[in-house]
Order: sequence, then C-alpha cells, then structure tokens
Amino acid sequence: MHSKELKTPQHHLLILQKGEKLVDSITNFCQENHVTCAWISAIGAISKAEIALYDLSTKKYYQKIFNESLEIASLSGNITQKDQKIIAHIHGVFCNKKMEAIGGHLVEAIVSATCEIYFIHFNNKIIREHNEEIGLNLIS
Ligand code: ZN
Repeated sequence: MHSKELKTPQHHLLILQKGEKLVDSITNFCQENHVTCAWISAIGAISKAEIALYDLSTKKYYQKIFNESLEIASLSGNITQKDQKIIAHIHGVFCNKKMEAIGGHLVEAIVSATCEIYFIHFNNKIIREHNEEIGLNLIS
C-alpha cells in the first residue's frame, strides 16, 4: 500500500457528441490541455462498447464488443502517464433495453446521444510502470 498527496485541484466538464470515440476523446482532451493527473466521472449514452476483463491467471484481457444502445449508468476512471504518454484508465457500467447491466474495463465506446464527463484535475505527475507479477501498468 502507498499513498500520494494530490495538489491544486481544477475542474473541467467535457461534453462529447454523437459519433465521437469516448476513450480517444478523453485522451485527446487531456493531451491538448496538459491534464496529466485526473479522476473522471461520467454519464451518457453509447451505441457501441468494447469492454474487457483482466484475467490475472493468464495475464490476458478477455474482450467483448456490444453493438447496441446502452446507457452509461456510471463511468469512472483516472488519467495518469506512462513513458510521457497520457493513459486514460476507465471502467464503466452500462445498461441495455432490458435494464440489464454489463460492465468492466472500457477499451472504447462510441457516443450516441451525449456523454457528460467531469474531470477533477490535479497538479501532479502520476506515473504508471509495468508490474511483472500482475502483468499490468500499475501506478508506481
Ligand atoms: Zn481497467
């Protein structure tokens, strides 16, 4: 276990429109606005989602694509850096027409109606490094 002090929060609201890629748009916004450390929260709707689950025993992601209308019931994640590149790590819970929930690690999604994303941006540099035991890029 380790902890970090987060400094000088700033707040941003990013609104995505129909057809925009969710993860790409967040990453681009962060690159353009020098947001290198942030926590995000969002709601909205999407028309397609690629969701993954990391299997620690095989050290591989199990991925699945959903081509349907989904509500973003809850999206949360963070922005960090690895090798000076912005890493948007996002998880989400999505609901279909039967009000059933699916969710996991969000690889990418296409916005349908809208996506309203709140950022709390800290004046820190939080770095990810590859962890051999876990097989993922973890916050160091
Ligand atoms: Zn994840």
